[in-house]
Amino acid sequence: MPSRGEEIVLRGVPISKGIGIGCPVFFSTVEDPVPEVIISTKEIDQEIVRYRHALDQSRKDVQVLQSHCAKEGPPEIFSILNTHLEMMHDPLLTSVIEERIRDMQRNIESIFHHIIEEYKQRFSALQDHYFQERTRDIVDVSRRILGHLRPLAKSKMGDIPHNSIVLAHELVPSETVEASASLVSAFVTATGGITSHAAIIARAKGIPYVANVDLKQLKQIEVHSLIVDGSQGLVILNPMRATLKKYQQLQRHHQMNYKMLKSSVHLKGETIDGYEVRIFANLENPKEMSQLLEAGASGIGLFRSEYLYLSRKRFPSEQEQFLIYKKMVKALKGRPLVVRIFDVGGDKKVDLPKDHPDAKYFELIGHELNPALGCRAIRFLLRYPQILKTQLRAILRASQFGEIHILIPMLSDVCELRAVKELVQQEAQQLQQSGVKVNPHLPIGCMIEVPSSAIMCDTLAEEADFFSIGTNDLVQYILAADRANHHTAELYFTTHPSILRLIRMVVNAANKARKPVILCGELAADPMMIPLLIGLGVREFSVAARHIPLVKHTIRKWRILDACRLAEGALEQVSSQELKQYLSSEGLARNG
Ligand code: PEP
Ligand code: MG
Repeated sequence: MPSRGEEIVLRGVPISKGIGIGCPVFFSTVEDPVPEVIISTKEIDQEIVRYRHALDQSRKDVQVLQSHCAKEGPPEIFSILNTHLEMMHDPLLTSVIEERIRDMQRNIESIFHHIIEEYKQRFSALQDHYFQERTRDIVDVSRRILGHLRPLAKSKMGDIPHNSIVLAHELVPSETVEASASLVSAFVTATGGITSHAAIIARAKGIPYVANVDLKQLKQIEVHSLIVDGSQGLVILNPMRATLKKYQQLQRHHQMNYKMLKSSVHLKGETIDGYEVRIFANLENPKEMSQLLEAGASGIGLFRSEYLYLSRKRFPSEQEQFLIYKKMVKALKGRPLVVRIFDVGGDKKVDLPKDHPDAKYFELIGHELNPALGCRAIRFLLRYPQILKTQLRAILRASQFGEIHILIPMLSDVCELRAVKELVQQEAQQLQQSGVKVNPHLPIGCMIEVPSSAIMCDTLAEEADFFSIGTNDLVQYILAADRANHHTAELYFTTHPSILRLIRMVVNAANKARKPVILCGELAADPMMIPLLIGLGVREFSVAARHIPLVKHTIRKWRILDACRLAEGALEQVSSQELKQYLSSEGLARNG
């Protein structure tokens, strides 16, 4: 085992570039493994008191929830909470735990965690619906109790102190979106893929991130400071003075580079020979509008509206949404706002307690074996049309204040487009009848991110008003490689020739039908891929505001003819490996 204070270098997968220097903070969820600590005989009583206190607090929480529920909640929830209260009086959670503390002389967190895991395994092995439900109750109750036992483990990004390097088993988008680059210096996780939503947000915020790091080592030694090199995928524990100095210099260099790029944001996005390429912004948090305006975005090419839900942990009302869309579209002053209707499901979901009013919508999603292939996005919205109608009404009402477009995520069949069009018409009519001004002809576009839509792009182009190519998902579905799973990271080739061929097909179909096409996946911000994409005919990109200067800078170095020649050569390659070699022979390589 390394000795205390020694410099140690861990390797992981680089996810978001940049250098982070700071102190470690463990960001924990109750499902994370908890450390096991041996306690002395003298400490046993103290440990039991701690446990009783946590149990007491948890019972009080549930009683408060019950009293709210008694006034306005549905009766089923009241009875679920009753079950939770009964469980908290059950000998399993009282005397058995206390006995184990005495017998095993271990800290309460580890004893509690083991008992809960034993029960979860026993119950979840039984197929019976009743036992499946009880497993969920056990998880709910244990979360509550563990939350009171581990108040120091940070479980909210808002509680993270300045200069923190956040260490976590895994990050989910609803947590990452809360992080502020002024507090979080870097992320380090044990799992996570390069185009997972948490990764996209980290890059958009400019927070360095390294995934797939063995965090167990970090728990074995005392770590007082850390360096995260998000370009090389390195995590340096307790750096020596010389190492620290080297990375501080590198950090300054990165910052200066970014400043230099930013200083040319006023320049047009065009090739040397004057072909215009419009650059829009991807946005998750409406509070970050000012950044994209400063970065000179041509508008919002992708508003991931599901973050309104993820950050609130509930679906926002029609009025709340209306006010948000109205504010956004007014701030854009004539530039378009593309609202992608809620893309919930897959890795974009939140774990809601059973007594939450929206929990019913996620019962199905919570049990999916293959969430990425499940009831996601438009499939979810058509299953629960009330959520979709509410969102469409809010968008329609805001449409009188500027140019709004509607974008459908994960479309796999033209019928889904027709269903949305019909709902838009219905809602527009109803609003007009009640005297509300709306634009009844809002452009309605389709995300091309599922192979069936890409293959059917020529016919789809006749009915859609525009296309938005979502390469993050398209790559995942074409290559059957989970975008969020680090075990499949080596199979997730953004440079696979099949992707280039599909992009060309979609761009050609859109051009033929005279419909706009925009590319909004992470590929659009990759300097190695940008010339290739221009050569394939892409003339509109949508990227995180932070990447706009780099995208502009890259475009301005190319002539359209050279880009087309590059693309022609690329389309002749037969594997990802060969395509990469070809690009490198043309002087293009991924830097870091
Ligand atoms: C995509 O899939 O490329 C995309 C832009 O959407 P998201 O990353 O939100 O799934
Ligand atoms: Mg997508």
